[in-house]
Amino acid sequence: MSAPRSAAAPASAIELVEVGPRDGLQNEPDIISTEVKLDLIARMIACGARRLEVASFVHPQRVPQMADAESVIAGLPDRADCTYVGLVLNKRGVLRALATRENGARGIDQIGCVVVASDTFGQKNQGQTIAQGIAETREMLRFARAEGMRAQVTISAAFGCPFEGDVKHSTVLAIAEELAIESPEEIALADTIGVGTPWEAGELFGKLGHVLGDKIPMRAHFHNTRGTGIANAWEAYKAGVRVFDASLGGLGGCPFAPRATGNIATEDLVYMMERSGVGTGIDLEAAIAANKWFGAVLGRELPSAVARAA
Ligand code: ZN
Repeated sequence: MSAPRSAAAPASAIELVEVGPRDGLQNEPDIISTEVKLDLIARMIACGARRLEVASFVHPQRVPQMADAESVIAGLPDRADCTYVGLVLNKRGVLRALATRENGARGIDQIGCVVVASDTFGQKNQGQTIAQGIAETREMLRFARAEGMRAQVTISAAFGCPFEGDVKHSTVLAIAEELAIESPEEIALADTIGVGTPWEAGELFGKLGHVLGDKIPMRAHFHNTRGTGIANAWEAYKAGVRVFDASLGGLGGCPFAPRATGNIATEDLVYMMERSGVGTGIDLEAAIAANKWFGAVLGRELPSAVARAA
């Protein structure tokens, strides 16, 4: 995609990646059925979502909520205008993603790889140090490309680690530089545990923009654990980010990050952006209706502030 990269170049729109079906659900205590996941995905497409993270190819024992990844993918609406993303943490995940396209099946359109910007968290999350994560991900990106699979990558814990504390900007940028060699479609920074501040979001994405230049677009992934997620998104926008992850209702958490809470809510991001003159392609009223439906499914009110105020 060729979205403007600098805040000086006015952009009228962002792309919102709906991550509710994956990041949003992976920490839910009760297993959500395949049918409900597909209903959620269909509702978000009806709201206007055109890129959705629909599953994660992790071992079912590690994240039981994602055990039905292949079944969810087999049930996806076959729409040419939608991009379905599957998260992969290793080469085996890439093979599973490729297998979803066997025998002419629609399958996954794009894989999302993850490098953790912390040795301790990386070992807990996917059994890798930073160096191992970079090496394996570069290999995965090359392999995906050779197999004709689109691929992007997220640097997680980029704003802080639940075990090591602060993560240096230089660490994050060095990872990005190495990953950029493989020309992923996009490089994202994720504030996995929601410790980032708006100042830091502007600062770090500003630096990343300099590293990536016009070659590779940036994406932002914020969690609202400390209430800064939506403000972080605004500063990231001002720093040139045009692609944002968000989850319906602000669902989410991370099984490997203690006390991590939800992503920024789709409704909150849409409200903030649209009211600021930035298009999102998402129908806010429809998203709020989807929130109410899913809240009823889960039997609780979802965190989104905008939906609560509606
Ligand atoms: Zn996340």
